[in-house]
Amino acid sequence: MINLIICGAPGCGKGTQSDLIVRKYNLTHISTGDLLRKEIAANTELGKVAYQYISKGQLVPDQMIIDILANKLNSLQNSNTNGIILDGFPRTLAQAEALEKLFSERNTQTDILLDLQVDEDELIARLLKRGKTSGRSDDNLETIKKRLDVYYNQTKPVSDYYQSLGKYAGIYGMGTIDEIFGRISNTIDAKL
Ligand code: AMP
Repeated sequence: MINLIICGAPGCGKGTQSDLIVRKYNLTHISTGDLLRKEIAANTELGKVAYQYISKGQLVPDQMIIDILANKLNSLQNSNTNGIILDGFPRTLAQAEALEKLFSERNTQTDILLDLQVDEDELIARLLKRGKTSGRSDDNLETIKKRLDVYYNQTKPVSDYYQSLGKYAGIYGMGTIDEIFGRISNTIDAKL
């Protein structure tokens, strides 16, 4: 099993790079944002609660997203996946600790946290551009600024946690998609 985490500020390219990583390393992609958006689209009770947070640029409560992730991990138990890439999870220290507990109960652990580092001006420009076509309720300037605040305040400690475990890899996230993917591949290949 290879377990990767890809993180970074909103607009850093997590989703795009995850797709490339999944193809090259034959992993299962788990995006908690996508899982929540599916609940919203299906108008489930969970989706209705999640929408209240997502549309304001806030994180959904830890226990809610940890339960969703635990269910997803359970559903993969008998699949023959090479491993997983987590995109958008963990986003708080409590989620990171819960994740390592869920992994250790399954006799596995995180191998590498890939932290995509992109300048703030570039993040805002990318998200505003995406907002023109994504239809996402959170890709507008006001919510983007809120999401960046949330990221710097709540999600940065996750990087520090994995740094303390010796599993952190900062990746320079500026340049072309291929250039960035090259840096990511080199990092994964060197660590595995
Ligand atoms: P993303 O697609 O990863 O940018 O996530 C979009 C939104 O979904 C975030 O701004 C949060 O409101 C919510 N979300 C996604 N993943 C998480 C998570 N791990 N913890 C809390 N909220 C999340």
